[in-house]
Amino acid sequence: MNASASPMSSPLPRRATRQVSIGHVVVGSAAPIVVQSMTNTDTADIAATVDQVVALAEAGSELVRITVNTPEAAAAVPFIRDALDRRHCNVPLVGDFHFNGHKLLREHPACARALAKYRINPGNVGRGEKHGTQFAQMIEIACREGKAVRIGVNWGSLDAELMGRLMDENARRAVPLSAQDVMRAALVTSALESAALAEDVGLAGERIILSCKVSGVQDLIAVYGDLAARCDYPLHLGLTEAGMGSKGIVASTAAMAILLQQGIGDTIRVSLTPEPGGERTKEVVVAQEMLQTMGLRNFTPLVTACPGCGRTTSTFFQELAAKTQSYLRAQMPRWRERYPGVEQMSVAVMGCVVNGPGESKLADIGISLPGTGELPVAPVYEDGKKTVTLKGERIAEEFQALLDAYVERRFGATESATTQAAHAAD
Ligand code: SF4
Repeated sequence: MNASASPMSSPLPRRATRQVSIGHVVVGSAAPIVVQSMTNTDTADIAATVDQVVALAEAGSELVRITVNTPEAAAAVPFIRDALDRRHCNVPLVGDFHFNGHKLLREHPACARALAKYRINPGNVGRGEKHGTQFAQMIEIACREGKAVRIGVNWGSLDAELMGRLMDENARRAVPLSAQDVMRAALVTSALESAALAEDVGLAGERIILSCKVSGVQDLIAVYGDLAARCDYPLHLGLTEAGMGSKGIVASTAAMAILLQQGIGDTIRVSLTPEPGGERTKEVVVAQEMLQTMGLRNFTPLVTACPGCGRTTSTFFQELAAKTQSYLRAQMPRWRERYPGVEQMSVAVMGCVVNGPGESKLADIGISLPGTGELPVAPVYEDGKKTVTLKGERIAEEFQALLDAYVERRFGATESATTQAAHAAD
């Protein structure tokens, strides 16, 4: 399995950063913005963790982070890697360490080798003298194993000693900053000082990624703006504890879109709290849709649908729009391999004749359903021209068949040409 999507670079100018390799995935500068996610299984439960990593990778997560919090979890990591490899899932694993990471990495060398990147939270690596020693121990292992490191600062676990120091300095100012500004400065300082320390220990700058996560939209924009201005490390972007449902999606998008538009952010994670019984993969879908609707990457054909109104009296139109989007997403693991470029296809499902034909003509393939009082027929448009009119009980199935035929005709030719070119070069 290869979870990578369209390899196109971002069409918007990106901030010039270094590039960091995490297994086969490159993060930074002109590389496509990488989507990542995190499991919520007990890492010591190998089967459950493998299943969830595979699900996240199949949904399109290009890096997957797992908690490594106990000796049992650390011992499980190499077995998880082996099981993923046996299932042809090559997604790089990132280990999330807090408090005891130095000990776990030292005592479980197979874990240290199986992971592609270590996430280290400078606020959770020990107090006093232990802070520097334990941080350096983790960095030394990363150097020895040739691994990347994310120095991941978090608002909720900010280095208390650093915060105290900055508060004291602030108190001596003629015009002290607000507590919020000191907190923002402390986040950035913690990330930059930790990166400098990691480089002093011997870690190359090309192995370092930084993040400073907060849960407020304005705080995130301010903190990352400052961080981006002061370093050239690739930045992992995400709003921490974004929340559930639409609130989590809106807050994450509001904050990240502004930064991404400024070229800030080289890899993203959407930290959604799953609804009870909800899919963990939702965070991957949201991250992809954020990047795709901004025109930064293409992952899967997206359906353009009108909101519906008094002209649509049945739920058929909503059901067809939802079914079509689900169908397109479900096909992508196979289509991605067979039909290069298919992720850029645009599809329209519209509710009536007011905007239906116009929007359908603008899409690669679109259908305009009949609204109230209209003839019960649904014209289909392909490449701007009406090709067929559907009617009766099987409109959904017939439209799906038309989608398959369109994809084969339009993108299958690319596959043949690519395959032929590859054979000619053999
Ligand atoms: S296209 Fe038709 S059904 Fe859809 S919102 Fe516009 S008027 Fe309403």
